[in-house]
Amino acid sequence: MEDASKMTVCGALEGLASGAFSSVELTRAMIGAIEKRDAEIGAFVSVDDTAALAMAAEADARRKRGEGGVLLGVPLALKDNIHVSGQPCGCASWMLRGYHALYDATVMERLKAAGAVFLGRTNMDEFALGSTGETSCERVTRNPVVKDRVPGGSSGGSAAAVAGGMALAALGTDTGGSIRQPASHCGCVGVKPSYGRVSRYGVVAGASSMDQVGTLTKNVRDAALLLGALAGQDERDATSLDVAVPDYVAALKGGVKGMRFGLPKEFFVKGADAEVLARVNDAVKRLEAAGAQIVEVSLPHSEYAVATYYVCMTAEVSANLARFDGVRYGFRAEGAEDVNEVYFKTRTQGFGMEVKRRIILGTFVLSSGYADAYYHRALKVRTLIRRDFERAFEKCDALLAPVAPDVAPQFGSFAGDPLKAYLGDIFTVSANLAGVCGLSVPCGTTTAGCPVGLQMIGPAFGEATILRAAHAFEQL
Ligand code: GLN
Repeated sequence: MEDASKMTVCGALEGLASGAFSSVELTRAMIGAIEKRDAEIGAFVSVDDTAALAMAAEADARRKRGEGGVLLGVPLALKDNIHVSGQPCGCASWMLRGYHALYDATVMERLKAAGAVFLGRTNMDEFALGSTGETSCERVTRNPVVKDRVPGGSSGGSAAAVAGGMALAALGTDTGGSIRQPASHCGCVGVKPSYGRVSRYGVVAGASSMDQVGTLTKNVRDAALLLGALAGQDERDATSLDVAVPDYVAALKGGVKGMRFGLPKEFFVKGADAEVLARVNDAVKRLEAAGAQIVEVSLPHSEYAVATYYVCMTAEVSANLARFDGVRYGFRAEGAEDVNEVYFKTRTQGFGMEVKRRIILGTFVLSSGYADAYYHRALKVRTLIRRDFERAFEKCDALLAPVAPDVAPQFGSFAGDPLKAYLGDIFTVSANLAGVCGLSVPCGTTTAGCPVGLQMIGPAFGEATILRAAHAFEQL
């Protein structure tokens, strides 16, 4: 078998189909890669060899019986906030240490139906709140490309597993950039689907009005294949929408000739690193040379995006995380005298600093006397931001932008300065506030060797368009 750590999902499927190797062999090779590399990289929080090999054997048996499955026999990793029955689901938090999922998330059900093999769970920022991976209670994850730097976050483990050759692909979640930004920092492809495209059932809720499950892969074709397996309405998630799922792989054909890309002028002015901007501008030029039309567009409310996101997100987080009180799930502090003390001690000890900061902020913006000034006002601005996108998409098929203002930072860069970290979300949060889709595709590296991603943002349910554009860009 060729080096499995360099394999793509589509490449592996060819090998499996031709009988060049079995799923058990492939899965063993991935487990071997994890054993060899993950002590240094730290992408995984748990790997279940026994379960993985059993699923692989089952996939091989399915193939022998002549049964299909678009991901038949392909080992994949899942972020630690997605339920897989019988597996730990810790969200990289002390609060959920030792908690095991009782059922499969819909995305896991769909992966199983497609024949995929569950390889293990990837590290993340605690409860997906962060952008470096550093708020995990589990371990440090290194960027496999530039090892003295963070992988990004919050799906940093998923990006590191894929970029580090330890998983053919992985699932992540994106509430404000948590798939696109680590993909950009690690040099892989990350897709955040439109709100309502993929079921959130069985995914630990962060900010329910913005959370989406998506993919981290080595190339765009793999992303298209995987998204096709995940997407579609689910009656158990009332916010998933009944919109037909196109054949995303078939939609990759066609190139960018005649496509219109909008450059949001507010994203190209200040604040971004010069080398990052240079790579992105270079990508824009290559698309133009390939026959795409570039137009300037405006997202006039962009300057309010980070503030709006951090009000809406923290409000929802404070409500969603209220369920972790020591009574039902995971950790319970010892030595409490009464029920209030159970809540108080459990939440004080079980949550990390960043999670507590968000809960406190969210509780404040929702509190009586302040909700009108903060939360309700933020909702109004959110509507304006959504309208900005609707207007922009009247003039173009997709938007081009940086993913993050800077490359992957060194460890500890944001210590004691949360605001600095929040401002790094400037180019990603708008897509979540508006509910549209976005992806990150590699567009080069800086002189220091740090990967840079190009962001493509499409209208709601316009995944086929941005996948096609990203695939064409990859070929360039
Ligand atoms: N970095 C953002 C935050 O800290 C995004 C998180 C996410 O998408 N889960 O909130």
